[in-house]
Amino acid sequence: MPDVVVVGAGPAGLTLANLLQRNAVDCVVLEARDRSHVEERQRAGVLDHYGGQIFERAGLAGEVLAGAPVETFLELRYEGEPHLLDAPALAGGRAGRIVPQQLLVRRLLGTFLAGGGDLRFGVRDVALHDLTSTPSLTYTDASGSHRIECAYVAGCDGFHGVSRRSIPADELTTYTFDHGIGWYTVLADAPPPRYPLMGIGAKGFAAHFARGPKASRFYLQYRPGAEDPRAWPDDVTWAELRDRLGDPGLPGGVITEREIVEMRSFVAEPMAYGRLFLAGDAAHIITPMGAKGMNLAIADADVLAGALTSALRGDDAALRAYSDVCLRRTWDYQEFSRWFTEMVHDMDGDPFRRRLAKARFDRLFTNKAAAVAFADMMAGVSAAPGYRRH
Ligand SMILES: Cc1cc2nc3c(=O)[nH]c(=O)nc-3n(C[C@H](O)[C@H](O)[C@H](O)COP(=O)(O)OP(=O)(O)OC[C@H]3O[C@@H](n4cnc5c(N)ncnc54)[C@H](O)[C@@H]3O)c2cc1C
Repeated sequence: MPDVVVVGAGPAGLTLANLLQRNAVDCVVLEARDRSHVEERQRAGVLDHYGGQIFERAGLAGEVLAGAPVETFLELRYEGEPHLLDAPALAGGRAGRIVPQQLLVRRLLGTFLAGGGDLRFGVRDVALHDLTSTPSLTYTDASGSHRIECAYVAGCDGFHGVSRRSIPADELTTYTFDHGIGWYTVLADAPPPRYPLMGIGAKGFAAHFARGPKASRFYLQYRPGAEDPRAWPDDVTWAELRDRLGDPGLPGGVITEREIVEMRSFVAEPMAYGRLFLAGDAAHIITPMGAKGMNLAIADADVLAGALTSALRGDDAALRAYSDVCLRRTWDYQEFSRWFTEMVHDMDGDPFRRRLAKARFDRLFTNKAAAVAFADMMAGVSAAPGYRRH
């Protein structure tokens, strides 16, 4: 019987599995999709400084971060006028790394398997049982039906997974917030920008981020309900990007993926029920503004790995604090993401909100304290178990 069953092999589940393996905790990972699907899913692109430290502390930096460029400037173009922010310097040298999510996942997966890890792909009908007493999971695969008992279950199966749904509704409080903005994202075989780039202006938000040496992810704000930008011809997409990024010479390329990103936030409290602990998108989703989704997943997994290891050695204090510790950071990041969203989007063309957003933007480039506070959140924060007054 394994000590822990981890449901889901995304950033949260694979970080947790590797950290448990390093601590000699026996775990099994169950993943619904096949290996190539998991390894090729392209989403986030930045591991913040705090996330990098998690892998360094665990002795996994060599495997996970090799060759990953360090973040430098962030470029914000206001109506085409460039402004560079040296966030790592403002954060006292705490730089993030450019690591496409699929590369991070591929490396974590390889490391776990090379260490003898038990990862079962293509499982179906996963069900969680007896979570408040002696947990077990059932699932089916090509060879039939299976049942595993364990001491603890880690629900790392994303927003649509089975783990959170296994908690009785009256045991959870959920918070959902629709940011009222549409985001259209495309992946393209197009050269990456020199620095992560955001265009701000009356025509709406646009962004351009690297996804490897020859690929880019672009984002465009659109009006939800009024149009479906996935139907835009490619030349319309490129024209909008050139216009909003203030770069008529922006090179185009083959668009390989078109997606609508729901600009929605969600938090479920608490992140635990009996012997089930939720981590990552299973417990919370955050808009991509501020690039914190994958980082929150990894930070949760780090806290959970330490807490489970201690509990299995006889001290469950950290496990009892797990949900509070992770929720504190989750709400900090939700607030940061919303703050950032309001600064860079044209909110329904409302002139008052546009002026507020401009005041926020100007303060970032004229007030050192404001810039340092921003850079601190970009670098990532450690979780504090409660409020400490300054
Ligand atoms: C287009 C897009 C852009 C994004 N950009 C950014 C960004 O720039 N920066 C950032 O930090 N974040 C970004 N995110 C968010 C980030 O990708 C997620 O926060 C991150 O993937 C969460 O990791 P996770 O491990 O919690 O969940 P997931 O990555 O969703 O992994 C969950 C895993 O569980 C598996 N699973 C699901 N159900 C079951 C089941 N019943 N049984 C077994 N396995 C199951 C899934 O197949 C999956 O492998 C973006 C997301 C999207 C969609």
